[in-house]
Parts: sequence; C-alpha cells; structure tokens
Amino acid sequence: MSIIKDFLLQLTFMLIPIFTYYTFITERVEDAKNRKVIMTILWGLSIIACMSFPVVFGQDARLELRVIPLIFGTLYGGFWPGVFLSALIILYRISFGIDIGFYNTVIVLMLSLPLIVYFQKSFASSKQDMRVKIAVCLSFSYCLIGLTFLGILRGFSKEYLTVPIIHLIFATVVTWCFAMLIEAIREVHQLRLEMQKSEKLRVIGELTSVFAHEIRNPMQATRGFLQLLNEPDLPEKKKEYIQISLEELDRANEIINDFLSFGKPSIHDKERISIGYQIQRVVNIIQSYTLNCNVEIKTDIRDNCWIYANPQKLNQSLINILKNAIESMPNGGMVWITCTSTDDGYIKIVIKDQGIGMTKKQIDMLGSPYYSLKESGTGLGMMVSFQIIRSFKGKIQVNSEKGIGTKFIILLPQIT
Ligand code: ADP
Ligand code: MG
Repeated sequence: MSIIKDFLLQLTFMLIPIFTYYTFITERVEDAKNRKVIMTILWGLSIIACMSFPVVFGQDARLELRVIPLIFGTLYGGFWPGVFLSALIILYRISFGIDIGFYNTVIVLMLSLPLIVYFQKSFASSKQDMRVKIAVCLSFSYCLIGLTFLGILRGFSKEYLTVPIIHLIFATVVTWCFAMLIEAIREVHQLRLEMQKSEKLRVIGELTSVFAHEIRNPMQATRGFLQLLNEPDLPEKKKEYIQISLEELDRANEIINDFLSFGKPSIHDKERISIGYQIQRVVNIIQSYTLNCNVEIKTDIRDNCWIYANPQKLNQSLINILKNAIESMPNGGMVWITCTSTDDGYIKIVIKDQGIGMTKKQIDMLGSPYYSLKESGTGLGMMVSFQIIRSFKGKIQVNSEKGIGTKFIILLPQIT
C-alpha cells in the first residue's frame, strides 16, 4: 500500500508545477524571461521533492521520476534551464552520498542532456503530437542509458535490473501522460488568447464601421455643395481650390472604404493572382514614397507563383509592411523583397530592411491595435496586415534585431 502512496506522491510532484505555472504564472507574468525563470524554479522544486521522497522497494532500491521535470524543464525552457536542473540533480544527489548510484546519475546526465538540448530546438517548432513523441522518446532513452550503465557497473543480473526496468516503463508512461496534459493546457491557453485578440479586433471593427458611416454622410453633403459652387465663370484660382478639395474628399472616402473592408474579411472577392505581378505593382506604387527617403528597393521575384487572394487587400498588407520598412530607415538604406516557393506548398515573401529594428517585446506587441512608436503613427498598419494575411490562410513571422534590421516573412498557400 505504501508503494502506491509513494507513486501517487511522485505524480503529485509533477502536477503541482504544471498547474501552478499555467494557473498563476502564464497570464500574470508578462515578461517571457521571468516566466521561464519561474518555470525552471518550479521544476527544480519538483526535482528536489521527487528525490527526497522516492518510492522505496525493499532494501536498496529507490525509484523516482526526476527525469520528467528535467525533460520538461529543458524542452519548454531551453539550454540554461536544462543546465540548471542537471546541476541541481547532481548537487542534491551528493547529499545522499557518493556511491555507484551517484556516478551513474552523473554519467547518465552527461549523456542525456546534450540529447535533450539537441531535440529542444525542433521541439519548439513542432506540432503537438510530435512534441509528445519527442518527450516520450527522450524519457525512454534517459532511462535506457541509466539502465545500461547500471548493468555495466553492477552486472546485468535480474536482481539489479528489475527496478530500473520498472522505472523505465513507469517514467515513459508518466511522461506520455503529462506531455499530453501540458499540451492540452497550452492549447486551451492559446485558444483563449486568440479569442481575446479577435474579440478586440471585432470591437474595433464595429466601432470604426459606425464612425465611418457617420463621417461619410457629412462628407457627401460637403462634396455635393462644393460641386454646386464650381460654376464655369469662377476665377481659375478658385476652380483649382475646389478641384483640390474634391480630390482630397475622395481620398478620405477611399481611406474609409479601405478601412471598412478590413472589418469583414469576405470570401467572395478572392481570385487567382500572380504574386510576382502584385509585388511589382506594390513596388511601383511605393516607389514615389521611397525617393524622398533615400531608400532603394531591390526585388528578386520568382515568376509563376499563384495564390488565391484578394489583390487589393494583399497590396494593402504589403504596402503597410513596406512603408514600415522604409520608415524604419530615417537616413535611407536598402529594402529587399524576395519571393520564392517552399517545398511544403507555400509562397514565401521576405521583406527585409536595414532599419532600427525591434526588441523581442516590441515584436510581441506588433499587430496589437494602436501600438505605435511613431510620433504620427496610427498603430493600425500591422494589425490590418496581420488580419489580411490570416484571412488568406497565411502566416507571418517577424525576425528583428535592434539596430540591425527587420525581416518580415509572409507564407501564403500556393495554388497551381
Ligand atoms: P505605425 O506605422 O502607424 O506606427 P504599424 O502598425 O504599421 O503602425 O507599426 C507599429 C509599430 O511597429 C511601429 O510604430 C514601429 O515601431 C514598429 N515597426 C513595424 N515595422 C517595423 C520595421 N520594419 N522596423 C522597425 N520597427 C517596425
Ligand atoms: Mg505603419
């Protein structure tokens, strides 16, 4: 009975950090670095608890699941949390005495940690089921290495290897369960965040459409009266003023139209378009803007790349990104636009500048409504661009380094 109790205790030591982290930390601690530190500490406490209260079999056999906090801490945290947790295991293990078990711990860690760190990179970019598989395989291999070394040190006898074999099976199964649990919780979180974001956008969309209507009516009235004023016997100068006023009103109306259309992403207006042709058009439109800023645009565009999208919206989103790239280089510079197709069926558009760049935090804020660091910025450009790309089932990634430049990578599903 006491063995079962011990087993359940070990499981509780894993559950506590998971629930503490996802209930109290993820949403309250804004800084990603701090979150990582807290997560590492929680896993560290879990390791100490696991090692302090092992499952004891008879005389000398101890079974504990410290491998699981180590693996999760490293996979979700990265290199340094991995090193910290490994060091913690070794240091704490010393307090139990330096014996064969200690050497075994050190050797297994030395062999396993590089393996875990190696897989951590692909883990971070993998899909859910792949993550679970990676965690389970790592847990299995850690225990297998441990078992092998124990066999080498003590001899491969049934007496010595029964417990490690139980440990291997138990650790692997528990890793699988907890990896599934963590992934499920993360998914719920992600969905909640996305819902919050889209709710924000929906509210803004609704507000703007109301405003737009209210502004349009007086504008139409003004336009009508201006046209009435425009009589043939008016002096040339006044005629010109009226013409300019009319043009400006039309421009304002166009902006409102554009903005209204962003609110509701429609499906019907999409068509098969050549991405190269669109990019060339966008570059032509933006060229007048770049001349004043001493910016040169270089393009390298592959032909015959087709996507299914609305050309006006696509142009709008590209122009927003390009304008930001140009504005990020107040003293001029170079903007590169490349377009290629990827092996997994996407068109990849890269827009790269040599501008002021952004910090990690600024990148995270990108696309939030009204987020702008510019004096006369609206903070709507990126929000609109992200929304448009998403409505085409595309993805957008931003890499940036402060003082060096920014790279926008847009992936859009390719059609033939
Ligand atoms: P706005 O351009 O009106 O400020 P955006 O939504 O277009 O609004 O951009 C939001 C903010 O993101 C900008 O104020 C700027 O600080 C930052 N940003 C966007 N693109 C870049 C870039 N290529 N380089 C540096 N900063 C950028
Ligand atoms: Mg902008």
